[in-house]
Amino acid sequence: MRAIAVFPGKSNSAHMVEMPEPSVNDFPDGRGVLVKVLRVGIDGTDTEINEGSYGEAPAGSDFLVIGHEGLGRIEEVGGNVAGFKKGDLVVATVRRPGGCINCRAGESDMCLDGVYTERGIKGAHGYMAEYYADVPDFLIRIPEKHEAVAVMLEPLTVVEKPVVQAFKMQERMVWQPERALITGAGTIGLLGALLLRGVHDLEVHVISREPHDSFRAEWLKSIGAIYHTADEVEIAKAEEALGRIDFIREATGVPQVIFSAMCTIGRNGVLALLGISGGNREITVPGAQINLEMVLGNQTIFGSVNANRRYFEMGVEHFSLFEQKWPGAMQKLITLRVPFPDFHRALERRQEDIKTVLEIGELLEHTRGGVY
Ligand code: BGC
Ligand code: ZN
Repeated sequence: MRAIAVFPGKSNSAHMVEMPEPSVNDFPDGRGVLVKVLRVGIDGTDTEINEGSYGEAPAGSDFLVIGHEGLGRIEEVGGNVAGFKKGDLVVATVRRPGGCINCRAGESDMCLDGVYTERGIKGAHGYMAEYYADVPDFLIRIPEKHEAVAVMLEPLTVVEKPVVQAFKMQERMVWQPERALITGAGTIGLLGALLLRGVHDLEVHVISREPHDSFRAEWLKSIGAIYHTADEVEIAKAEEALGRIDFIREATGVPQVIFSAMCTIGRNGVLALLGISGGNREITVPGAQINLEMVLGNQTIFGSVNANRRYFEMGVEHFSLFEQKWPGAMQKLITLRVPFPDFHRALERRQEDIKTVLEIGELLEHTRGGVY
């Protein structure tokens, strides 16, 4: 079968490889499931891996098959697989557990020792291939009606997790958040706005670089979020401009933005950090002010990475709610569909793209004559 692989550490090494098709027998005890890949979403992690700054090949291999946002259809199930059958639509989680207490408790997203693998990222091949195989523990069944948006389930889980966890942490007080701020209008920022509007009904403000007439700003307005350009509202002064901010979700990973966000958390507020920073640039920050406000305001700052299957199941539930409130909005975030052989184009970072997907399996009705 064909797959898209990189040589980790080497820049722009994405290439097509021919490799043996996986099989249900790759897993013991009849527990294997073979999945035919329909499409794979691409994010900043994939482009960083292709730039050579991230990623790790599986033990014994010099290449890594990339892709961690995959939607596929089950082709075959092993003799001992219950709850899944040929033809089912599925999305697979990304992490595979190591042996620490968190991994053993089904929370490899909270891994304690770093001995996990991540399919398509760290030590395990991903989904940018014609097929992959796995065990049911890591597969999430997707109702047919969500076929058009399901390729965005994995990035959605990355925003589901910190919201659940923020509410959990805030059980330490009476917490009724009203106003949220999201920094950055990338996929994670936009999905975060959808979640905080759709499920939690917060007043959601997004600050980013794009002008008001950009697709991103218009999309945000269409789901009832309030958009500001970074020139209009300075992040560090957002509280002065907008009122008390109860919940901030930082998704850019840019140090200056992160520390500006720290300066504007409201009393009893929470800042969730989701962006993975590159490089080691140093910056100057108002440390005394940040600490004073954190202490006097009972503030919380936390980081969040990855997501376990609970958040995938939650995301599937939320698809219906989003579709009901803003029909078609989520699908509009897929702004570029690239056919399998043109994978190089899919891996380019272009400012105007939100979610790019690589179409690998059959092209279904709604993609025909579409955005190519
Ligand atoms: C993925 C996560 C992963 C993280 C770090 C992100 O792009 O969505 O699942 O844990 O990268 O490798
Ligand atoms: Zn672990």
